[in-house]
Amino acid sequence: MPHPHTPATTPPALTPQEHTHYARQLLLPGFGLPGQHHLRNARVLVVGAGGLGSPVLSHLAAAGVGTLTIYDNDTVDATNMHRQLIHNYGRLGMLKVDSAALTLTQLNPTINIEKHPTRIDATNVINAVTHADIVIDGTDNFASRYLLNDTCVALNTPYIWAAVYQYDAQLSVFATPHGPCYRCLHPTPPPPGSVPSCAEGGVLGVLPGHVGTAQATEAIKLLTGIGRPLTNRIGIYDALDGTWNYLPLTKNPTCPTCATPPQPHAMVTRWTKEFANDPTCALPTTTTTPPTITATQLHQAHTTNPPILIDVRTPTEHATATIPGSHNIPLNTILTHPTTALDNLPHNTKHAPLVLYCTSGTRSHLAAATLNDAGYPNAHTLTGGITAWWQETTP
Ligand SMILES: [Zn+2]
Repeated sequence: MPHPHTPATTPPALTPQEHTHYARQLLLPGFGLPGQHHLRNARVLVVGAGGLGSPVLSHLAAAGVGTLTIYDNDTVDATNMHRQLIHNYGRLGMLKVDSAALTLTQLNPTINIEKHPTRIDATNVINAVTHADIVIDGTDNFASRYLLNDTCVALNTPYIWAAVYQYDAQLSVFATPHGPCYRCLHPTPPPPGSVPSCAEGGVLGVLPGHVGTAQATEAIKLLTGIGRPLTNRIGIYDALDGTWNYLPLTKNPTCPTCATPPQPHAMVTRWTKEFANDPTCALPTTTTTPPTITATQLHQAHTTNPPILIDVRTPTEHATATIPGSHNIPLNTILTHPTTALDNLPHNTKHAPLVLYCTSGTRSHLAAATLNDAGYPNAHTLTGGITAWWQETTP
């Protein structure tokens, strides 16, 4: 790949400290000093300093990528600790970009770290991608994926994408000159909230470590020119089976992003419209605010005037654990058929009290609001989901 930030003159020699740090890497056939100089001159944008960002940033810092630019507006909390090894308990509440920079500076004091404690969005994405040789996606939401993909295609910047959920992961390198892009795979985003996040469905702690390390590997390959990048293929990792499988992916001639040369600002404008109601894909597209019920109130109602309970999670999640007596009608069914989704329930549901729940309350909020709009004014969302139910009702 081209190295737009590689100076035309001979780069300064490695210092003795750098020679020692990179000794085992410099020995590699096909890598050597030229490879090390390519890394030192490189600028890599890493969006998200969480589960994927932890191994991506740690490995690229240790390997000697000269400038790492990090975007993340989140702070460190205890639910991060089983997979985000760049942070630790001493940094609870600290901005993740600050915590990550502390770790990275200790891993390799010779590199530059640029911290942006903000979410990547329409206002900053063009500037961020323009200054990067490679973009690595460590986010967990569709809005960021589409924004990064579209901008990377428009600015001819490779986009290393990965997604993790429960025990499975996917990985590919998009937006290379002749390869496909993320929209070749998924031309349009799924309905907001229809795909559960790791916060709702869970994730095996080692999984982002495994796949983030693979993202860092692809970045090093692209920057140094070694090997064959994971383009035109999607790597699918099944942690329970211990297997990687690869699906071929070709450029879609009608892809809404890469079929014709896109303009960066046009891409961002389209994205802004596409995600106008849902910049994170974690919030509902409806402006309706459904009535809520707490787990304690539901527990009391259970014994006096039990409502109809609807679990809007997937059948797999429903089979794992439920609130007793609930019916499973997944969010997708409610979103696609709001007026008929409840027709098979053995009750007259139009004016009966309904309580919808999911894991944490995100999907049920959207489901209840959708049903409110479809003529079910008594569709409530359980605040905090089944998680709150367990916490508040377990003696
Ligand atoms: Zn495409």
